[in-house]
Order: sequence, then structure tokens, then C-alpha cells
Amino acid sequence: MRRKIVAGNWKMNLLPSEAKAFTGELKEKINTDKIDVVICVPDVHLYPILDLVKGTKIKVGAQNMHYADKGAYTGEVSGKMLAEMGVSYVIIGHSERREYFNETDTTVNLKTLRALKNGLTPIVCIGETLKQRESERTFFVISKQLSFAVDGMTADDIKKIVIAYEPVWAIGTGKTATKEQAEEVCAAIRKQLNERFGDVSEEVRILYGGSVTDTNAKDLFSMQNIDGGLVGGASLKASFEQVVCFE
Ligand code: PEP
Repeated sequence: MRRKIVAGNWKMNLLPSEAKAFTGELKEKINTDKIDVVICVPDVHLYPILDLVKGTKIKVGAQNMHYADKGAYTGEVSGKMLAEMGVSYVIIGHSERREYFNETDTTVNLKTLRALKNGLTPIVCIGETLKQRESERTFFVISKQLSFAVDGMTADDIKKIVIAYEPVWAIGTGKTATKEQAEEVCAAIRKQLNERFGDVSEEVRILYGGSVTDTNAKDLFSMQNIDGGLVGGASLKASFEQVVCFE
């Protein structure tokens, strides 16, 4: 049985004061042992939020990291720094980073490998655009992104990563993939991992992301190959509690 995860992606939202107040509310409400709950916050919030959630079931993640441990990379933050702070997850290759910050399949791979080396759990995002879906290239695109992302990994590495299938057309648009559409792609991801790494693919957690809310979470997360969600907009609302408590 794979343990489900719900990870919130705050993106570039909430001022420090708002982040602390909101986390204060969340920690009163979210206290589940049934699934892993993660909030991926802007780097400037990491220290105060890590401090606030101490002793609770909520884990903290970052939204990006550099692929080097240190060096002349002005403005960047390394996985090694995140790990020493007590961060446990890091989102890698989010479509917004691919679109606006020159994230490529190669940097996604380098970052994922480095995250693992530093003991972080990478949440690796892959997903097709609307144009790619409409021209029936979804499976080709997903397969290529996945293949690059896991390059150089062992079976032992693969079970430590989390993959988030996030169709770009569903992110922040209010358009959710149907549970059948999401399941079809997540199943294809697991099949590809199985062909490359064998039975360990059954242990890999695959999330769906794209306009998940408290009203559709239960349906989506009940699918055989969907082990939870990466949640943007809805992770900034009090109703995140219902997304987490989807059962
Ligand atoms: C995301 O940012 O990863 C995401 C899925 O956003 P939203 O839930 O708002 O679509």
C-alpha cells in the first residue's frame, strides 16, 4: 500500500505575517496520521514555518532548488541548504518554472539527483500543454519528460521520489482533468517506471495536480494509480483541510 500525500504549493503568495497566521490556523486543524501532508512555501518563509509546525504532522517543502550544493549562483538556494534547515520535500520542474525560468528536462534531472543525494524527497512535475493534448501527444510528452527526469537513478532512488502529473492546461485554470484522464496518464507513468525499474514502480507515489479542490479531491485520489495531489490555489484556503481529509 502506498501512503497518500497531499502537498500544497503556495507559489509566490502570502506575506511573512500572513504565512505565519495561516500556518497557525492549519496546524490547529490538520493532524492526520493517515497521509503525508506537506506545505511547499516560498524560501523566505521556511525558517518561521518550520518552527511553527514543529511537533505537528505537517511537513515543509521548498518550491525549487539549485542542482549544485554551493557556488557562484547568485540568488539561488541549494538542496544542501534546504536539507540542513529541516526541509523534507522539494518541488522540481513545476510547469511555471519550465515556462518562466528556463527549467529544462536536463536541469530537472540534475536537481532531482541532487535532491536525493541531500536526503530530500523530490516532487517531480511533468505534464502536457493543451496544444500537446489536443494534438494527441500527451503520452509522448509525458514519457519523454519522465525518461529524462529519472535518468541515472537506481531502483532504490526511484522509490524515494514522488512524481506529480500536472497537465499544464489544468493548473490554476479551474479546469480539472477528469479522474479517468488523470488515471490514464498516472497508470502510463507507472507502467514506464515498471519497464525501466521493475516491481519497485509499485512503491512510487504518483500525484495528480491541476485545480484540485475540496470538492474533487476525493474522486481523483480514489483512483488506483493516483496517490494524492499537488495542490496550488486550494492550498491557500482554509478548505485545504478538506482536501487533506478527503476520505
Ligand atoms: C500547482 O501549482 O501545482 C497547481 C496544481 O495549481 P492549482 O491547484 O491552482 O491548479
